[in-house]
Amino acid sequence: MIVGAGQAGGRAAEALRAAGHRGPLTLLGEERHPPYERPQLSKAILLDDVAAPAFMRPDADWPALGIDLVVGAAAVDGDLGQRRVGLADGREYAFDKLLIATGTRPRRLEPLEEGPLPVLYLRDLDDALVLRCALAPGRRVVLIGGGVIGLEVAAAAVGRGCTVTVVEAAPRLMPHVGSASLSRFMDELHRDRGVAIRCGVTAMGQTSGGVDLSDGSSVAADIVLIGVGVEPALGLARALGLGDGQGIGVDATGATAADGIYAAGDVALQWSRCHGRALRLENWANAQNQAIATARTMAGEAMSYDVPSWFWSDQFDANVQVVGDPGAGEEFVRGDPASGRFAVLSLAGDEIVGGITVNGARDMAVLRRLVAAGKRIALSDWQNPAYDLRQSLKA
Ligand code: NAP
Repeated sequence: MIVGAGQAGGRAAEALRAAGHRGPLTLLGEERHPPYERPQLSKAILLDDVAAPAFMRPDADWPALGIDLVVGAAAVDGDLGQRRVGLADGREYAFDKLLIATGTRPRRLEPLEEGPLPVLYLRDLDDALVLRCALAPGRRVVLIGGGVIGLEVAAAAVGRGCTVTVVEAAPRLMPHVGSASLSRFMDELHRDRGVAIRCGVTAMGQTSGGVDLSDGSSVAADIVLIGVGVEPALGLARALGLGDGQGIGVDATGATAADGIYAAGDVALQWSRCHGRALRLENWANAQNQAIATARTMAGEAMSYDVPSWFWSDQFDANVQVVGDPGAGEEFVRGDPASGRFAVLSLAGDEIVGGITVNGARDMAVLRRLVAAGKRIALSDWQNPAYDLRQSLKA
């Protein structure tokens, strides 16, 4: 059985069948939708009024694969001894092996929810459809959080004719990436397109006029969207006696401490060689690939998964990609950020610990392989615009 029908759960179900699992297979999803692609929620769905959601598979594929997909099924209870999961509506499901792929929920800012202005969060498809309607031309939108949600929605909102302000608590945008060069680039990109950026302040509350900030100022607003990070969805895990506040601990195969129970995707807390610590990776690629590896383990292959984090973000005409942990080293820029196309290499000693590309997907393909393989590259080569990065893979 798989609980959670997001990117991790959906791909794990397919992978279990592909790996030869012949027995019953139930996929429980809390949302009313079958598995869909999540990256579109802060991009295409918001930008295009008629964009139809991209589902992982046509509906008929799930039963054709022998997967019993149950939507609108919130698993809230479970018993390890009796090997069963209970839903909020009282239904119960038995399992032999269980994969928990419950993902994350938005971190809420409750004080900000109180007041006359509509306050939205963006996590699922229904949230995105509501937000799309709310982003009407001329609306004044305040985005709390200058991470990926805040900035991708800012770009979409400008595209829809809204007036946009981003409020970020840290001194710079996208602070979690840990690159001063990227933060500077994002700041200039958004300001150039008319986004007002307020870094180093927090939102304290709201009135009919707008959002009050910690420096005593306020920002006029018609809508507030909060994107200040996420928390692991641990309800079922806790009922089963698994998971601390950080996530559900798993080994390299995706197995938890409990026999026959696995976790994958955003909720799984796993050791990362690249990051040098256990962490939850909150991105599409990890949700998909770690879940596939874990499913293969569940089907009897001993798969080990430890791949550097990789994600992308599209904002205006910038495609940003980040691999590894750029904040763990010293950064070296290749190319000119003013041109709108550059890359960043992050070195700890002479080890490559992370990389960033802006409008350089081809360079990212090389960087991902360098970081994964723990390869080295001479700084003089990196900083030489004529050097073909692919050469570094041969060394
Ligand atoms: P995020 O990337 O962690 O960014 C949240 C930002 O909000 C952080 O910079 C944080 O700063 C800031 N913040 C926290 N509290 C604040 C406050 N009270 N006032 C103002 N700013 C505050 O999280 P997110 O943007 O909400 O994204 C949520 C999840 O969706 C993540 O898992 C993300 O990976 C995923 N997502 C991914 C993509 C993509 O890969 N392209 C796109 C959309 C969403 P501090 O560092 O100071 O806490």
